[in-house]
Amino acid sequence: MPDQNNPPDGDTIFARIARKEVPTEVLYEDDLVIAFRDVNPQAPVHALVIPKKPVRNLLALTVEDRELAGAILLGSAEVARRLGVAETGIRVVLNAGSDGGQTVPYLHAHVLGGRPLTWPPG
Ligand code: 5GP
Repeated sequence: MPDQNNPPDGDTIFARIARKEVPTEVLYEDDLVIAFRDVNPQAPVHALVIPKKPVRNLLALTVEDRELAGAILLGSAEVARRLGVAETGIRVVLNAGSDGGQTVPYLHAHVLGGRPLTWPPG
């Protein structure tokens, strides 16, 4: 993936949030992941779930990261419960790479809810 214009994943804003270098309202946290609100929400509920370990995106995960991958999904569901949208439903999105619309080169799952979401995405 051409990443000349992107900083290494350890230097992104999400890496700094994961290292607790930036004041952040934490919605959920365990030993592998941390969740917080998206700064530019696209729905009434829009949270991000990131690994504490720096990983560029879904495509950079390996079999060694099975537990981490599961933690991101389970963390997404827990965030939905905590924010009161588990009953009405959510969409979890992982943008990966340029065609996927990824703008921050650090793995993150979007948790969207609180309104009906259309399909397909643009
Ligand atoms: P992507 O397009 O890479 O899938 O999503 C990146 C997301 O990160 C966007 O929804 C954007 O609003 C969010 N974002 C970018 N910078 C920050 C930030 O500094 N803090 C928070 N909380 N979210 C951010």
